[in-house]
Amino acid sequence: MKLQLKDSGLLRTQAFINGEWVEGDAGERFDVLNPATGEVIAAVSSVGQAETARAVDLAEAAMTEWKKLTAAQRAEILERWHGLILENSDDLAQIMTLEQGKPLAESRGEVMYGASYLKWFAEEGKRIYGDVLPSPSDRRSIVIKQPVGVVAAITPWNFPNAMITRKAAPALAAGCAILLKPAGETPLSALALAELANRAGVPAGLFNVLPSNSSSKVGGEMTSNPKVKKLTFTGSTPIGKLLMKQCADTVKRTSMELGGNAPVIVFDDADLDQAVQGALVSKYRNSGQTCICANRLLVQEGIYDQFVEKFSAAVKDFRLGHGFDADATHGPVVSQKALADIDAIVKNAVEQGANVVTGGKPSELGNCFYEPTVLTDVNDKMSIFGEEIFGPVAPVFRFSTEEEAISMANDTEFGLAAYVYTQNLGRIWRVSEGIEYGMVGVNETAISSEVIPFGGVKESGQGREGSKYGLDDYLETKYICLGGI
Ligand code: NAP
Repeated sequence: MKLQLKDSGLLRTQAFINGEWVEGDAGERFDVLNPATGEVIAAVSSVGQAETARAVDLAEAAMTEWKKLTAAQRAEILERWHGLILENSDDLAQIMTLEQGKPLAESRGEVMYGASYLKWFAEEGKRIYGDVLPSPSDRRSIVIKQPVGVVAAITPWNFPNAMITRKAAPALAAGCAILLKPAGETPLSALALAELANRAGVPAGLFNVLPSNSSSKVGGEMTSNPKVKKLTFTGSTPIGKLLMKQCADTVKRTSMELGGNAPVIVFDDADLDQAVQGALVSKYRNSGQTCICANRLLVQEGIYDQFVEKFSAAVKDFRLGHGFDADATHGPVVSQKALADIDAIVKNAVEQGANVVTGGKPSELGNCFYEPTVLTDVNDKMSIFGEEIFGPVAPVFRFSTEEEAISMANDTEFGLAAYVYTQNLGRIWRVSEGIEYGMVGVNETAISSEVIPFGGVKESGQGREGSKYGLDDYLETKYICLGGI
């Protein structure tokens, strides 16, 4: 597959540090693959520890002037970047589909979603308020907010654009500089964003992209360097825990957007078509590779058989294919390793007694294609109940009472997103309040946008991205006491 970019200057393969395109340490490069075909798309420069340390120094220096600008001046630059992303959205979507695999329409959607964070935080930056506190004496107590300092960001491959802007936009709006290590599978989308940031006039050193084939070296420097004041990470829970431990020695602020195990709870009184549609979209979006994808469908016994029938009929109509194929409703998973992990989860469930209603095996389309799958005869004693599947596999569990549904939903270390389908208003409140999740969709699974606080509880992480709360993670609160009045 050849890209048909209107602007071939967006396809960058070097690291972007301090406003310059540079080779990594020792001139090493690593291959980026197209998951649909296995072809090598590009060889990208690999940054190591020394280059990361250099980038941190430069970012710290660049912040000195940036934080002194007014919020309106910073907003102007962020809005120019936003505008350029929209102008180049077709090209950005093509690059994303090529390296990540998702259908082109989904890539276009992600580019628009990603851009929305730049516009949002350009505006929110103007609303960083301080406070004057009622004083217990003749002193005056003032609170101001200041940028946290140099920010390091590490992002996953499943949203190669939006997971970056969701961090870069608030960091820059708050007056910080940011260094980003994108996932090894999808550095090209990150580098294209850097090219546009440069064109938009983001000053040198404020937005840096450090691709690497050795994430532990870059991550090691990011987490140990005392000049880095904050780490923001989106990825798996085990790596998030590791990075939190690494950050402890320099007591860095951290934001963690980690794994999920989202339940979709469908009660007997739900609108069945609405529930089926919501579960389908949530489960199979990005071929099941989103952190808020439905991971467990929990369906009440009175509606269970009808739900499975309608849901699996719709799944059988999906068209698996290359992301550039206009007829494809679903693309490949990101890598052969991801496919092997998904297949192992399904095989294990089947060994434990699960019934395959449809799918259940790799597809013959290519090494990274897995058939959209529905499993029944599953229960909460099976390992599939507790695992983040991260693939197009829907296990449908049965429950009888509201209490049981809440208990099953909470029976996990994760707490990112959950969904509830019911027409009963009292039940909506009871369940929404009773389940331990950062986000709850009621009769809706498309819950994300730039205006909402995205994030989880328990081992799904800490901090919130987007919304009026999203800037807090990039700001320090300083108290100033005025005496002698
Ligand atoms: P991952 O393996 O944790 O990787 C995420 C990022 O961490 C990648 O950039 C990776 O780099 C890097 N990394 C891996 N090991 C590292 C180390 N020792 N030091 C520093 N960096 C390291 O996760 P993934 O498989 O790419 O992404 C899927 C996970 O992300 C899922 O669990 C999903 O739920 C979660 N996720 C959460 C959210 C949310 O908002 N909560 C959103 C999207 C995804 P390399 O790839 O180069 O190794």
